[in-house]
Amino acid sequence: MKDIKDLLLDKSKILITTHVNPDGDAIGSSLGLYNFLIKLGHEVIVVVPNDYPDYLKWMKSDKKILNFSDNTDKVQKLINDIQIIFCLDFNNLSRINELGKLIEKSNAKKVLIDHHLNPDHFYDFKYHDVNASATAELVYDLISYIDDNLIDKDISDCIYTGILTDTGSFRFSSTTSKVHRIIAKLLDAGVKSEKIGKKIYESNSFDKLKLLGYSLSEKLEIICNGKVAYVVLTRKDLLNHNYRKGDTEGIVNYALSILGVNMAVLIIETKDRIKFSFRSSGNFSVNKFANKYFNGGGHKNAAGGSIEDKLSVALNIFLKSVSKNEKQLNY
Ligand code: 5GP
Ligand code: MN
Repeated sequence: MKDIKDLLLDKSKILITTHVNPDGDAIGSSLGLYNFLIKLGHEVIVVVPNDYPDYLKWMKSDKKILNFSDNTDKVQKLINDIQIIFCLDFNNLSRINELGKLIEKSNAKKVLIDHHLNPDHFYDFKYHDVNASATAELVYDLISYIDDNLIDKDISDCIYTGILTDTGSFRFSSTTSKVHRIIAKLLDAGVKSEKIGKKIYESNSFDKLKLLGYSLSEKLEIICNGKVAYVVLTRKDLLNHNYRKGDTEGIVNYALSILGVNMAVLIIETKDRIKFSFRSSGNFSVNKFANKYFNGGGHKNAAGGSIEDKLSVALNIFLKSVSKNEKQLNY
C-alpha cells in the first residue's frame, strides 16, 4: 500500500478498468476509487470492456464510465497519455477482452487490486488478497490508508455496493468482522443501506421475473443423484423474454438453494459462445472445475467460464465433466 501511495504523490493521468460483464463489485470498486482519485487531484477515466446492468447505473460519476466496445477509438487515443492503470477485480488480461491487449502494450505503471486466485504477473504493483470479501474491501483498505478523511458518502456508497453484492448481502463466509467494521464506517459516512438494497435487489423488470419463473418451472434439471442442479437458457429463451443485461443474475442461486445440491450451474447460449456460471456450497472448488473444463476461473464457490462451440457440444462437455467429478460432488 505504501508503494501505491507513493506512486500517487504526483498528479497523474490514470485509467481504471475492470472485468467483462461488470458486476456490483467491479463497478463499486472502480467508481469508489475513481471518486477518491479525483479528490486527490488526478485526471482519471474509468473504462469497462462492455456494458453492465441498469441497477448499477446510479453511483456517483457513473455517467463518466467509458464502455470500450462503444468507444474503442477514443480509448485507444486516450491510453497513450495514461501514466497509471488500475486493474480492479480481475487478474488476467484475457478477462477484459480486446482492452487487455492495449493495457499489455501500455508503458503506464500497472496496479492490480483483486481478490481472485492466481494472479497473472502483468502488474508493477499489486494489492491482492484472496480472503478479501470483495475488491471494494481492498479499495477501502487502500484509500483509508492514503487519506481516511477523503472518504465521503459518494465513495462510501460505491464501496458498500461492492461489498454488499460480493458477499451475497453479508452472508458468505468471507463476511468477516473486519467487513462489518468497514460497513459500520460506511454507514457513519452516510450510506443508507435500505436505499442501496432497494436499488440493487428490488429494481427487477417484469421480464426479468418472468424469465426467472420460466427458468425454474421449465428449465431446472437435477443430475448426479441430486447433487448438481442446472438451468440451460437458449438464445430463443432470452429473446422471448426481451432479455436485457443482468436479467439472468440470481437464477443460479435458486438452483443452489435446493436441499442437497452442492453445485448449481447456469448455462447460457450467447451470440458467440456458451457461457457457464458455477456456484457451489461447501468443499467442491468450482474455480478449479471451471478452469479445467471451461477455460474459466473465479472463486472456490463462485466461478464462470465459456466454450466457443454449439450448445449441444458444450452441454456434452458439461455432462461428461460432471460424471468425471461425481465422487467429489458427493458430500
Ligand atoms: P458469474 O457467474 O457471476 O458470471 O461469475 C462468478 C465468478 O466467476 C466471478 O467472480 C467472476 O470473476 C468469475 N468468472 C466468471 N466468468 C469467468 C471466466 O470466463 N473466466 C474467469 N477466469 N473467471 C470468471
Ligand atoms: Mn469481486
